[in-house]
Amino acid sequence: MIIVLFGKPGAGKGTQAPLLASALDVPTLATGDVLRAARRAGTPLGREAQAYMDRGDLVPDSVILGILREELTQAQYKNGVILDGAVRTVPQAEGLKSMLASLGRHVDAVLALDIDNEEIVQRLSSRTVCENCQTPYTGRPVGGVCDKCGGALVRRKDDDPEAIRTRLRVYDDETAPVLRWYQTAGDKVVIVNGVGSVDDVTNRALRALGK
Ligand SMILES: [Zn+2]
Repeated sequence: MIIVLFGKPGAGKGTQAPLLASALDVPTLATGDVLRAARRAGTPLGREAQAYMDRGDLVPDSVILGILREELTQAQYKNGVILDGAVRTVPQAEGLKSMLASLGRHVDAVLALDIDNEEIVQRLSSRTVCENCQTPYTGRPVGGVCDKCGGALVRRKDDDPEAIRTRLRVYDDETAPVLRWYQTAGDKVVIVNGVGSVDDVTNRALRALGK
């Protein structure tokens, strides 16, 4: 089963990806990790990607898809994979489709974890972090004291409500056309409500996937 995973920032994608992977008995594959590994290993495509990055350019989709393709031919992916970060644009969705077709495979489902934007703003803006040891806290005010080291709790710049709203807008603008593209192509697109306990969300996602 090949799943393309989308998650709104703050919707718990990082938590759910490994839980879904273990329930479905497939590995996760995060594009950023595979790209880094290919650069470190110095594979031909990894070196090509590195050259773009050294010039300060974006690595083209064709190079990234080539690196993903090499990775997916390995035995550990024979039962499927949860792809994280592989698709952000319609051309990338098209590229992934032909790359998988060249391996005789296809996307079985597109899974998007969704939460109401204001819920995410609430959730993330109630997060603070110790400015000293970086321990994260939820529901503790700015200026509170870290249990571990006595340091002061601060809000990360990224968790400022306006910064969160901007990130969510960017995500919505980028992702909506991609989900529409998959729907139009007749692929199974599952949008799962990410509100609730971690287990609830995992079970909801598995049910929606028919598992
Ligand atoms: Zn601390």
